[in-house]
Amino acid sequence: MFDAHTHYHDKAFDDDREEVLKAVKAAGIELIMEAGENMAGSLAALEMAERYKADVYPKIRVAAGLHPLYIKESWKDEIDSLEKLLKTGQAEAIGECGLDYRNIKDESVRKRQREVFEAQLELCEKYGLTAVVHSVDAAEDTLKILKAHPKVKGLLHGFAYSAQMAEQFVKLKWNIGINALVLRPEAKKIKEVAAGVPAEYIRVETDAPYMPVIKGSRNDSRSIPAIIEEVNRIRKEAGAEPICQKQEIL
Ligand SMILES: [Zn+2]
Repeated sequence: MFDAHTHYHDKAFDDDREEVLKAVKAAGIELIMEAGENMAGSLAALEMAERYKADVYPKIRVAAGLHPLYIKESWKDEIDSLEKLLKTGQAEAIGECGLDYRNIKDESVRKRQREVFEAQLELCEKYGLTAVVHSVDAAEDTLKILKAHPKVKGLLHGFAYSAQMAEQFVKLKWNIGINALVLRPEAKKIKEVAAGVPAEYIRVETDAPYMPVIKGSRNDSRSIPAIIEEVNRIRKEAGAEPICQKQEIL
């Protein structure tokens, strides 16, 4: 099993990171895809992967990137730093990048999000990397921007749009990330997405430490088996084939 989206470099794991990663490995999660939220976070994620690869957790892959809610005025310098980092070959993907309009009403801030997102997709094109995309309340713009960059593929992590919208992204050959919210009885929309997307385009993820089943608790990759089980239960009911955990993580 793998977890397609995590943040184990987050301070939520400062007290017991090593123990948690050992427990995650013991629970049968062989591979995790860790994502940065800005340059500092991306570097911390890379350092963590390096530190633990010998004896704690050998398979941490890292995406480095700039999250739409952490964009600074000086984002062009950050894009330059990101490109320098990509040239070292340490990061295997770019992310998380994307658009988050939920609490952003200012059109100039939204515009900047789009510019930073497109700059990162251009880096994906230039370096042949996949992208880890965060998209909240911005489905149409996300779709439009991905259509404008047809060579770039990747994961729409924590997918929170409708099944119809998922179909649009799958047409572009993008993968759809399903997290532990699918375990909540009220998560009707996510359950519909889990039932409707072709198996090869579904990726399971935790977004650890975020998105726990029980609000307010800390999440980690040990919830992956329950997510897979629930997704497959929903799919069986809908007459869809079960998801496969053997394919590429992104
Ligand atoms: Zn995340």
